[in-house]
Amino acid sequence: MKTGVIGGGISGLLTSIRLSESGCNVYLYEEHTEVGLPEHCTGIVSKKTLKMMNAPIDECIKKEFTEIAFFNSKGESIKLKLNEPIFSIDRVCLEKKLLKIAEGLGVNVYLKTKVALVDHDRFYNFSTKKIEDFNNIVLAWGNSIQQNPPPFLHKRTSQIIGINRLIEIEGNIKEENYISVYFNHYLSPGFFSWKVPLNRGTFILGLGSLDPKKIPLSLNKFENELFGNNRIKIVKSYGGVINVSLPEAVAFPKKVIAIGDALGMSKPLSGGGIYGISKALNFDVTRINCEDVFEKIKSNIFNVLRELKKQERISRVFHNPSNQELLDETISFISKNYSIISSKAIDYDEHQNFILFPIFSPKLFLTMSLKLIRDKEYRKKLKKAIYSDLLD
Ligand SMILES: Cc1cc2nc3c(=O)[nH]c(=O)nc-3n(C[C@H](O)[C@H](O)[C@H](O)COP(=O)(O)OP(=O)(O)OC[C@H]3O[C@@H](n4cnc5c(N)ncnc54)[C@H](O)[C@@H]3O)c2cc1C
Repeated sequence: MKTGVIGGGISGLLTSIRLSESGCNVYLYEEHTEVGLPEHCTGIVSKKTLKMMNAPIDECIKKEFTEIAFFNSKGESIKLKLNEPIFSIDRVCLEKKLLKIAEGLGVNVYLKTKVALVDHDRFYNFSTKKIEDFNNIVLAWGNSIQQNPPPFLHKRTSQIIGINRLIEIEGNIKEENYISVYFNHYLSPGFFSWKVPLNRGTFILGLGSLDPKKIPLSLNKFENELFGNNRIKIVKSYGGVINVSLPEAVAFPKKVIAIGDALGMSKPLSGGGIYGISKALNFDVTRINCEDVFEKIKSNIFNVLRELKKQERISRVFHNPSNQELLDETISFISKNYSIISSKAIDYDEHQNFILFPIFSPKLFLTMSLKLIRDKEYRKKLKKAIYSDLLD
């Protein structure tokens, strides 16, 4: 079975590996001269995701974290202890490592080769200027043709653009061992901003926004608020489209599947895409042959989409700028009662589990319930968010 894979990002590489391990004859096309470049991703993944990726990529792990601090627009924060560690990974290293594995398995890799889908079993190769035929095709071209996708892929209307800035700070900087997330819609409308500490004095600052034109200025402001008194060296800036909207209903043509950003299967709250990709490609290859693997991946993709759908409503509460006061008050109130919250429900990937919070943190649930009973204004704001975002 001859399978063509368009795109040498994590989706295309990992899919090629699984297809090849199942005995398929795989042809992978990547338009850039190298995989992993240009960079766009912050590279934060959970231990569970790395396990599902099932590839020897330890050398690409930069740092481990077990806590995330959530800030409101007033600078108050709560720290959550995650139920398992998360890691900052070097995405370029990851893609290069996956490429080596794919090549080792016999995947035919064509770099610097742009291709375009012309039919459900054929695509046009811009390098050879020829049409090529395949038994199956995998679309793993990321966000590249989001505005004008083939009819079976959803056109995404609202877009979050995210930019990362790798910076080095001079001076005496405290070592940090947690990731910070800032829910401040004045700075990052429709999304949030983040700080990832790497080595001492080196940080990734990032910001997602519905208003891309304002990102450079907002990032400067963000950087200034955090490190205004220090000398800052910007090492590099990189970013791209962050997917927060899932496809409504997917009906792939018989011989085609799309995976990763090409389909829009990121976690809607954080825009993290690696979890869904790794989960869809996590199966026992020894029990499946090339005839069946395509259908297996397809059904796994549908399962992942169903799971991610459950996270969509809770994400809207966090992404809706009109909930800023609610977020501010909630974080402020909790920060006055708790310095750190630890719960089995705090999962880096399964955000739908936040609903289970009361079961795992009865004390916090009780404290919040008392606030709800006593504070009429807060109750009103929460009710509005529930009606407009959770139940709509
Ligand atoms: C700012 C930012 C931060 C992020 N942070 C995280 C994070 O911390 N954790 C996380 O899990 N996710 C994160 N993501 C999301 C994550 O980066 C993506 O979900 C993931 O990279 C998607 O992988 P992909 O292979 O589907 O697409 P891509 O990585 O975009 O790969 C697509 C590949 O296809 C190639 N291509 C496109 N068109 C063609 C063509 N016609 N012919 C040949 N090749 C083609 C491209 O050159 C590219 O190499 C972030 C995204 C952004 C923008």
